[in-house]
Amino acid sequence: MPKKKKKYAAAEATPLTAQERISRYMRGNRAKHTQPELLLRRALWHGGLRGYRLHWKKLPGKPDVCYPGRRLAIFIHGCFWHRCPHCLPAMPKTNIPFWTDKFARNQERDQRHREKLKAAGWQVVVIWACQLQENLDGCVFTIRALHAGAPESYWLEAA
Ligand SMILES: [Zn+2]
Repeated sequence: MPKKKKKYAAAEATPLTAQERISRYMRGNRAKHTQPELLLRRALWHGGLRGYRLHWKKLPGKPDVCYPGRRLAIFIHGCFWHRCPHCLPAMPKTNIPFWTDKFARNQERDQRHREKLKAAGWQVVVIWACQLQENLDGCVFTIRALHAGAPESYWLEAA
C-alpha cells in the first residue's frame, strides 16, 4: 500500500514563484479567516485587547475585526486583491482587462465601506498583510493606541 498523501504540505523553505504567490493570494481571498487575520487576532488576544467582534454583519463591509464599544473597525487587506501601496504586488500577466476591472471594483468597494463606516462615526483602520508580516508588534501597538482613544490620524492607514 502506498503511503497516504499528506493532506497539508509542510511550509515551503524556498521562495514562491510569482504564479504560486498569485494562486496563494487567490485562495486567501476566498477564505474568511485568513492567515494574516488569525495572526492579528491571536496577537490582539494575547495583548489583552479582547472584546472584539469578527466580521460583524451589522457593519458596512463586515470589518475583519471591530471593537463596537470603541467604534473602531479594522480591515485586514490582502496585498494582492486590494492592491497594497506598500509592497505593490505584481499585476498578473494575462487577462489584464479582467484583473484591472476586478481590482478597480475591489478598491471601490473598500472605499464605499470605509465611507459608510466613517459616516456612522467609526474609526477605520486598514492593515495590510505585509505590515502584519513585517511588524506585527507595531500593528498591535497602533490598535492599542486607537483603542485607548488616540485620534485616527495617529495611524497613516486611517481611512
Ligand atoms: Zn503589502
